[in-house]
Formats: sequence, structure tokens, C-alpha cells
Amino acid sequence: MAVVEAVGLTKRFGTITAVENVSFHVREGEVLALLGPNGAGKTTTVRCLAAILRPTSGYALVAGHDTRTAPRRVRHLVGLLTEFPGLYGRMKPLEYLDFFGAMQGLDAHTRRARAETLLKQFNLWHARRQRLGQFSKGMRQKMALVRALLHAPKVLFLDEPTAALDPEGAYQVRQAIADLRRRGHTILLCTHNLVEAETLADRLLIIHRGRILARGTIEELKAHVLGDPVFRVQLAQPLEGLPDLLGDVVSPLEWGPDWISYRTRTPTQTNPAVISRLQAAGGHIVTLVEEPRRLEDVYLRLMGAVP
Ligand code: ATP
Repeated sequence: MAVVEAVGLTKRFGTITAVENVSFHVREGEVLALLGPNGAGKTTTVRCLAAILRPTSGYALVAGHDTRTAPRRVRHLVGLLTEFPGLYGRMKPLEYLDFFGAMQGLDAHTRRARAETLLKQFNLWHARRQRLGQFSKGMRQKMALVRALLHAPKVLFLDEPTAALDPEGAYQVRQAIADLRRRGHTILLCTHNLVEAETLADRLLIIHRGRILARGTIEELKAHVLGDPVFRVQLAQPLEGLPDLLGDVVSPLEWGPDWISYRTRTPTQTNPAVISRLQAAGGHIVTLVEEPRRLEDVYLRLMGAVP
């Protein structure tokens, strides 16, 4: 079931079209990454979905509620982590969460119980007596996540959650997001970090200049953008006539005296046939591996194809 649905979403600021005719959905319990360079329109999309901005045309639904006609309801259903969340440095974690929980209309008992559970879940409980101003950036970002989760939202929007963090802080926050994913939260994650998208997302939307360039799981995107996977066989010694030997089994892509690579859509059939043929010709196979294909290759290929 779709928790979030964007249909023909368009947002213009004067003459700038930040988001143009974007349609997609986020299913219950999935992490969808919105991946794109600076200025692609990620933040604008999220702000429309969170009922902070009104779309110029098109519409968005959160749990079936239209952001245009039921903005308050939508804001209640959404937990939002913005790019540069401000924390009140003089406050301590429980005091801070109590303050925001009250603003969200939670009663005192629920506020305290949720705050305690979340601080423990995010490994911040030990720091509950420190002021937020003394927290590291990674801890502050996790606090911002706790704040976004306090009212038990139906969906979380995370806008560049690790952009301003050092590697350790980014790692901590990614671990926290991975934990939320395991717990079945529905998350829309905006990022221009490919590792983050690759490790955290179930599906990706690649967005550029306000338009969706490609969408799918990482495997689907790799197959769609980069073609069928490539396998490489390494032999112990050179083998005479290597490419011709395999000519009727696969079409060789590249080869050397003791190695060969080929592309195949059906490795479960092709690879055993390649092995048999090479062994019958006296070849000793050292390895047969799929060549690694990274999300980076997909992303750069797509960005390179944009005029
Ligand atoms: P980043 O990764 O840098 O945050 P983004 O993908 O989130 O980028 P947006 O912030 O949505 O991109 O911006 C998309 C475009 O809309 C940019 O050209 C930006 O300058 C423009 N834009 C965003 N907000 C406004 C605004 N309030 N007024 C005018 N233009 C805006």
C-alpha cells in the first residue's frame, strides 16, 4: 500500500521550475531514496509532500490525505528531518523532547515514555544529562531524528541526513536509519550520497533539474542503464584460440591470453556452459566472477546522458 503518492507534482518559484511533473509513490515499510545533485529539486519535493509548500500543479497524498486540503493532518502524519535542524543548545535531551512533544499535542506520560525509548534506541540515553550544545554533530543529528520520530509519524522524510557530518557521525546516523528500516518504518530519503542510497534504499528515484531520470531497485537500474551483467573468467595458463572456443556459447566482450569476459542475461545457464567448454579444451579455471557494477556507474551514466 502506498503511504505517499505524488501525482504530476510541479513547483515553480517565479521563472524557476524546481520540480516538474514528478509522479511516484512510497510503499508502506520501504525506504525510497531520492537521489540527485544539488539543486535537483529534492528538498522542494519533500517540502511539497510535507505540506510546507503548495504545489503549483499536481498533488500529493500522505496516507490518503491531500497536502493541499488537509495540511495539518499531513504534517501530523509526517516526521521531517531537514538539512540543517536547529537544536536548543542550552536544553537537555529529555527537556527538549518534552517541549516538542507538548507542541505536537502528546500527553506528559506518552512524551516521557517515547523520549526514553527513542533515546535508548539511538544510543543517546547515556548523554541525557548533557546539554545539547555539548553534543557532537552525529549525536545532534540523531537527536533530530528522535525529535522527528517522537509523535510516531506514519512516514519519515529525511533530507540529506548525513551531509554535514564527518565519517564517524555519518556512520552513526546511517546505522540509526538502517535500524529504522529493519523496524519497518516508511522512509523517503533525499541524498546525493551514493553509498547512502545504495546501502539504505529499497528503491531509488534519480532526479535531475526537477525531473525523474530513472527509477527502480538498484539491480533494476543497473540492468536498465548498464545492460546485462558482465562475467570474467581467469585461467591458470594461456589457452589457445580462447574467444573462438566460446563463440557459440557467448559473445566474448574482451579477452587476453588467459582470461575472457562476456555479457549474459542468463548466467545460470551460460556460466556452466562456459565452464564445461573451457575445461573440455584443457583450461584450468581459477575464478569466474561477476564484474562489480556500482550505483556510481549508473548515476554517472545517467548524468552524462543529460544534455
Ligand atoms: P540540494 O541538494 O542543494 O539541497 P535540492 O535537490 O534539494 O538541492 P532544491 O533545494 O529543491 O534542490 O532546489 C531546486 C531548485 O529550486 C533550485 O534551482 C533552487 O534554487 C530553487 N529553489 C528552491 N527553493 C526556492 C525558493 N524558495 N525560491 C526560489 N527558488 C527556490
